[in-house]
Amino acid sequence: MHITELEIDNFKSFTKKTKIPFFGGFTVISGPNGSGKSNIIDSVLFVLALSSSRSLRAEKLTDLINLNSGRPTAEVSVTFSDGTKVRRRIKRTGTGYYSYNYLNEKVCKQSDVTDFLSKFGIKPHGYNVVMQGDITRIIEM
Ligand code: ATP
Ligand code: MG
Repeated sequence: MHITELEIDNFKSFTKKTKIPFFGGFTVISGPNGSGKSNIIDSVLFVLALSSSRSLRAEKLTDLINLNSGRPTAEVSVTFSDGTKVRRRIKRTGTGYYSYNYLNEKVCKQSDVTDFLSKFGIKPHGYNVVMQGDITRIIEM
């Protein structure tokens, strides 16, 4: 099983909805300094609940919401090769934030996402996530 598509909307530097396909083999993302390469990795860690906001290079979760769009929500979804879709949305409120997790478009608890991923050996272990075995490797260099 591997990731086939990532969709990022209003997360960090991604003001517009952006779809990134992951093909067979490995996918390389290149670009100038500050262009958002690491933010893509952060978005994967965010949607799969593999990292705290601190490891996503944000003081608090709401710092992940794009600063320039004026929209109060950030959303990331990831599609796996078996068709499973994991989605997470955070919304800034007057006093804090809401975080919503979805598994195949149904609202779920974050632990449901974690349980699903752990079946495939996907567990948090640091800032760089290397998903071994049949899972697409996500490596930042
Ligand atoms: P490098 O090659 O230096 O590692 P990079 O391509 O990995 O660069 P990132 O670290 O992904 O770049 O992106 C950094 C940019 O993301 C910065 O310009 C920063 O201002 C921007 N950024 C981070 N959070 C937000 C946010 N909430 N709203 C808008 N922009 C943001
Ligand atoms: Mg970087």
